[in-house]
Amino acid sequence: MKIYDAIIIGAGAAGLKAATQLHIRKKSVVVLDMGETPARKVAISGGGNCNFTNTHADSLHYFGENPRFVLSALNQFTPFDTLNWVKQHNIDYIEKEPGRFFCKNGAENIITALIQDIKDSEIIFNANVISIQKNNDIFTVQTNNKIFQSKSLIVATGGLSYAHLGVSNIGHMIAKQFGHKIIPVKPGLCAIKTNCFNAELSGISLPVEIIADKHKIKDDLLFTHFGIGGPAAYRTSLIANDKIIINFAPKTNIFEQLKNAKKTDGKKKASTILSNFVPSKFAQFIVSDSTKNIADYKDSDLLKIADKINKFEVTNIKPVGMQSAEVTVGGVSTDKISSKTMESQLCPGLFFAGEVLDIAGDLGGYNLQWAFSSGFVAGSNA
Ligand SMILES: Cc1cc2nc3c(=O)[nH]c(=O)nc-3n(C[C@H](O)[C@H](O)[C@H](O)COP(=O)(O)OP(=O)(O)OC[C@H]3O[C@@H](n4cnc5c(N)ncnc54)[C@H](O)[C@@H]3O)c2cc1C
Repeated sequence: MKIYDAIIIGAGAAGLKAATQLHIRKKSVVVLDMGETPARKVAISGGGNCNFTNTHADSLHYFGENPRFVLSALNQFTPFDTLNWVKQHNIDYIEKEPGRFFCKNGAENIITALIQDIKDSEIIFNANVISIQKNNDIFTVQTNNKIFQSKSLIVATGGLSYAHLGVSNIGHMIAKQFGHKIIPVKPGLCAIKTNCFNAELSGISLPVEIIADKHKIKDDLLFTHFGIGGPAAYRTSLIANDKIIINFAPKTNIFEQLKNAKKTDGKKKASTILSNFVPSKFAQFIVSDSTKNIADYKDSDLLKIADKINKFEVTNIKPVGMQSAEVTVGGVSTDKISSKTMESQLCPGLFFAGEVLDIAGDLGGYNLQWAFSSGFVAGSNA
């Protein structure tokens, strides 16, 4: 049986980037994927236009038990390297926000480039890896219909979200088999369920500031029929445990505004004053009593209203679920993996790359940059 230099499990962004490096190093490599086409998450990323990198990538934009783990890989293959690679492939791109780059004409451009780079390296689709073994420094990989052998093994099996695209937890099983810890997984970059608001607010969008844990997130929030969505909620889902505090008018001290209005516009309703700062439907949701004029409120009551705008406490929050999460939080612990090479410190020759690891990036192109950088490093060392 042929013994490859490396087997890569997973033909996603990380696995294909790793394959490119092995190809450049003239190593024999086979990429095995359970699906029918490569990089299926790339295909749907960025609303179909793939937000392929973000030049602000640093450890502050990543989450996991040790976000600083990303630094070495990000230095070895930087967002600017990704940008140059996109330019080399003549892919048209746009910078939608400072540092945040998307394809101009569809995510397929990125997939074509990844495939072009690996040239005639073998990719086998519909190859579902079921188990692996290591004997005498050789990995034996069992798929649903064939056995493969190699000197190195790169696990780039991705996360568990968007299951209908074809996902598995084989990466976690392999890691466990060699003694790695698995950080419990949960959905990230998705909408959040809460019953603190009502469905009538659904469709309203406004800029907010959210305090979750030690983090402050400033972005747009969208009310949905089951809770909150939009970028602010997506980003919050990466970090929030149970409770968050939302400031619906981050630039305004609402208590001061209400107290002033009590003196100057006493006959107006509190909701009318609030609607100068937040959408009027939301103002009416906050002040349900439509009979009272603002002059009728005690200052302590105005403070309670103001706090519902500037410090709305949302408890018992739940990310909507893996089926619609853009990323999986948790995964293979980075604890016993070299950040410089992506090699396991418990099993020489075993490498991990991409979302399978306990690294989740913020919204904005950080996850694909992580897949590219970690794939590059694994493929450069396997
Ligand atoms: C809707 C959506 C939009 C997104 N938009 C963006 C964006 O714009 N920018 C951004 O940076 N990130 C985005 N992401 C996240 C990003 O796409 C992923 O983080 C990234 O693609 C992960 O790459 P990966 O190679 O680690 O894993 P994957 O792309 O998930 O690849 C893993 C591969 O492993 C294969 N595999 C798994 N188990 C087995 C097995 N047992 N046998 C064989 N093969 C197996 C799978 O079939 C899959 O092809 C988005 C994600 C989603 C779902």
